[in-house]
Amino acid sequence: MSNKAEKTLVVLKPDTIQRNLIGDIISRFERAGLKIIAMKFLLPTKEQAYKHYVKSEEEIVALGNRSIEGNKKRGIEITGDPKEIGQKIMDRLVEYLALSPVVAMVLEGNNSIQIVRKLVGSTEPTSSDVGTIRGDYTIDSYDLADGDNRAVRNLVHASANQVDADYEIPVWFKDSEIFTYKNVRDAVLYDEKFN
Ligand code: GDP
Ligand code: MG
Repeated sequence: MSNKAEKTLVVLKPDTIQRNLIGDIISRFERAGLKIIAMKFLLPTKEQAYKHYVKSEEEIVALGNRSIEGNKKRGIEITGDPKEIGQKIMDRLVEYLALSPVVAMVLEGNNSIQIVRKLVGSTEPTSSDVGTIRGDYTIDSYDLADGDNRAVRNLVHASANQVDADYEIPVWFKDSEIFTYKNVRDAVLYDEKFN
């Protein structure tokens, strides 16, 4: 179903900022037709990073399971308790997100959640498709990250679904920081007649 006002959260993680890729990555969202309706540059606290990632206790188990599944697809069998695996990934992620400044933004547009996930690409950069942000701009892998006891550096966070977007946006933005405005592209993208 289409929803031209759908909102999604994007966070450009510290590796984007450290590698001077802010402009390149934002331009990918802009050129796809997405509208920036909120944006800030900030150093998140660990509490904020934790709140962002851990929607509920089940989220840790779910992250562990996504990791086990993701590795299995690549022919790597990981054994262990999903909760412990998820917790280890989460601890590194939280530490990483709170390490240096990030850019948080809310993007709006038709089916923005799914569109942004498609533009961002799959989680592990070594298997993200060419043409996606993760596939084009970075080369990290889980085994490299795990060997160094750090989070995998995959440049961008993007809300996975509607439930996550509704939860995540208020972790980063007050209602008053999110804008409703028309830009000139709206007519071309959405109206039947624009001339
Ligand atoms: P995303 O929505 O594509 O970012 O992926 P997830 O929500 O499943 O995971 C959140 C973040 O945790 C990812 O962006 C990665 O930075 C990290 N991550 C997820 N799975 C793994 C894993 O198996 N190993 C490592 N090292 N990091 C992971
Ligand atoms: Mg996710």
